[in-house]
Amino acid sequence: MTDPQPEAHYEQFQEGKHVDDLNVEDVSLTQARFILRGATQARLTDFLTDHPQAALALHALPSRFTTGQYIPDTRALELNTARAGATFGRTEPIGRVAAVSAWGTTKEEAMQMSFVHELGHHLLEQHPPAFELALAAARHPEVSPVSLRARFDWQEYSCETLTGFTFFRTELVRHDPVGHKMVQELHATLRR
Ligand SMILES: [Zn+2]
Repeated sequence: MTDPQPEAHYEQFQEGKHVDDLNVEDVSLTQARFILRGATQARLTDFLTDHPQAALALHALPSRFTTGQYIPDTRALELNTARAGATFGRTEPIGRVAAVSAWGTTKEEAMQMSFVHELGHHLLEQHPPAFELALAAARHPEVSPVSLRARFDWQEYSCETLTGFTFFRTELVRHDPVGHKMVQELHATLRR
């Protein structure tokens, strides 16, 4: 199956359009731009135009082992600029790595991947078809979660699989065809 919309269709993530309030601390503007490009790579900027986040903060979170978080009630997303060195640059194989973002070779790459993971939570809250597809795939008898975090529950499964699809698609399709298909079907529901 060919891609319905290549990544080039999607615009750069912007404050005032895809998020109401953007707050960047501890990283340079160049690094922030790189991290935020995750939304474009995940092909979510059209969706975010229609369903913007309320707030996005790139700053230090209290626990260095928290990579990011999304609060559904406030539509606020945070990414940890102080994430521990042990949360990226990992080489564990697919299925056994702690989280997809741990494969990021630098902190910025890992943050870009965590951004996509947390956008996945926003999608599950704001887009009912994402919820339906995630539940069905996570309960499929042949499912093969991409990471340890993806085994936690159906929401983590969905967000980790979206991240795997975005950055490691060849590996994902071999390891978890069920999840690969879930994201393809998700993209079809987001098409404009
Ligand atoms: Zn999560």
